[in-house]
Amino acid sequence: MTLLGAGASDWAGHLPAAAAGPSTLFETVPCYMCGSADREHFISAQDDLGGTPGTFRFVKCSRCGLAYQNPRVALEHISAYYDDHYIAHRKKRDWGVLTPLFERAMNKLDVEKDAIVSRYVSLGRDSQVLDVGCAVGTFLARLQDRYGVQATGVDFKDLTFAPSLRNVDFRCGLFYDAGLDDAAFDLVTMWHFLEHDYDPLRSLATARRVLKRDGLLVIEVPRLDSRTFKWFGDRWPGLQAPQHTVLFDRDSLLRAVRKSGLEVVEYLPYGAFPAYFYLFTGTAFRILNGRGLDLNRAIVPYFLGQLLTLPAMLFERRLNLAMQTVVCRRTG
Ligand SMILES: [Zn+2]
Repeated sequence: MTLLGAGASDWAGHLPAAAAGPSTLFETVPCYMCGSADREHFISAQDDLGGTPGTFRFVKCSRCGLAYQNPRVALEHISAYYDDHYIAHRKKRDWGVLTPLFERAMNKLDVEKDAIVSRYVSLGRDSQVLDVGCAVGTFLARLQDRYGVQATGVDFKDLTFAPSLRNVDFRCGLFYDAGLDDAAFDLVTMWHFLEHDYDPLRSLATARRVLKRDGLLVIEVPRLDSRTFKWFGDRWPGLQAPQHTVLFDRDSLLRAVRKSGLEVVEYLPYGAFPAYFYLFTGTAFRILNGRGLDLNRAIVPYFLGQLLTLPAMLFERRLNLAMQTVVCRRTG
C-alpha cells in the first residue's frame, strides 16, 4: 500500500463496522497535480473488497485531467480501512491448508520485484535500499538475503511485529515525515504506494531528496488507461475505494514524476503485481455487486482460475492489462 504502504499485495478483507461512517469522515481536496479546484465527475465506486456500505466518488481535474478521489476519507479515519485482514499486512501462516500456495504467490511477487529492479541496479552489501509502503517487509528481506543490502522501510501502519522486518530500519508513519537523510539511498521503491498517497507530489519530491545522485526510483501503480479498466469500469479493482486516492494513467504518472524533478529512465506497461489478480477480482466484483469479497472463500477459485488463464498470462507484458511501472532518476 502506500502512504500507506500496500507493498506486498493490494487486497483488503472485511472491514470493521466502525469503518463505515457518516459523511463527516470525508474532506474535499484540490487536484494533487495542479492545485485546481475545478473538476468534473469521473466515476463512482464502492468498497468492492471490504463490502463496507457507501459510494466513493472519483473526479477528473478540469485543468490537468488527473483522476482522484474527491471527497476523500480524511487521513485520521483511513487507517480503519487497513485492518489486519489487509493482505499486505497479514502475518504468515494464517491461511490454513492453503498457506503453501499463498506463500508461493507472495514469494513470486517479491521475485518479480527483484527481477525488475535488478535490471537497472546492481545491488550489494554497500547498497542502501528504501521501500516506501514496505508492508510486512518481505521484499526488503529478500534483497537482504540475496545481496546483503542495507534496508530501510516506511509504512503508515505499525508492522514491527513482522519477522521479515527484524533487520530493517523500519519507520512507522508518513514517508515525508520519516526523518530520512538527504542523498542516502541507491534505490527507492514504491510498490503500490503512490495511488494511496495523500500528497503524492510531496512523496515524489521526498524520494528525489533522499536518492543519491545516481540513485534510482522505481514506482508501480495500477494503470487507469488499461484493458481491465475498460472491461470492468466502476468495478475495476484499481479503483479500490476508498483506499486509492489517485488513479494514474500513463500520462499523469509520467507528468507527476517529471514535475517532481525526476527523469524517466524507462516506462513499463506492466508491473511485478500479477494482472491476473485484476482479472479475477474484477470478475468477482461484477458478480458480487458491492457485497465484498470473502478472501478465505475466494482463494480456491483464485488459484484454479490462475491455472486456467496461465497460457494467456504468458503474454501479460504485451497486453496492457492492469499495471504500469516507471523507473526514474534525479535530473541534473
Ligand atoms: Zn489538476
